Amino acid sequence: MGYELPALPYSYNALEPFITAKTLEFHHDKHHAAYVTNFNNLVKDTPMADMSIEEVIKATYQDASKVGIFNNAAQAWNHTFYWECMKGGGGGQPSGALAEKINADLGGYDQFRQDFKTAATTQFGSGWAWLVLENGKLKITKTGNADTPIALGQTPLLTCDVWEHAYYLDYQNKRPDYVDTFLDKLVNWDFVATNLAKA
Ligand code: FE
Repeated sequence: MGYELPALPYSYNALEPFITAKTLEFHHDKHHAAYVTNFNNLVKDTPMADMSIEEVIKATYQDASKVGIFNNAAQAWNHTFYWECMKGGGGGQPSGALAEKINADLGGYDQFRQDFKTAATTQFGSGWAWLVLENGKLKITKTGNADTPIALGQTPLLTCDVWEHAYYLDYQNKRPDYVDTFLDKLVNWDFVATNLAKA
């Protein structure tokens, strides 16, 4: 059993020049892999080894005695989700039912773009920016460190990793430039639309 590190859903150079193969090699093969290894070691021979990772995240959230399990489980899940949120030739505006939902709940794409960028750039320190569905409505949020909408009863639709390891090799301290590029060149709106349709 255990949680397996998923392969990247594309090649290491698929997001170049916007995110380089070097960044993806470190981010996936070192950072993401370490969260998965740590998680599996921490739950080995415990009842949590047989639970889904989403169940582990919910069961350990805000439990001070299980913070290591939560952090590694949530980071393993968040990264698997993040890879799917990008693709080569992505970015720009969504279409169809997702675009209509953004118009209805968030005031249109331009407002979404501005608010998502603000969430991503104002998350102090490490964390994540999210588009989630909560009580049937779209919402833009940000979480610190490993925290994840999975623990909060929200349905994640899109995320941007704003830990420095996600962008430092390519953008150094310029997080706003990384977020602009994520939105304009990388977002996999088909994945977001599928998440909304399943919710
Ligand atoms: Fe990361």
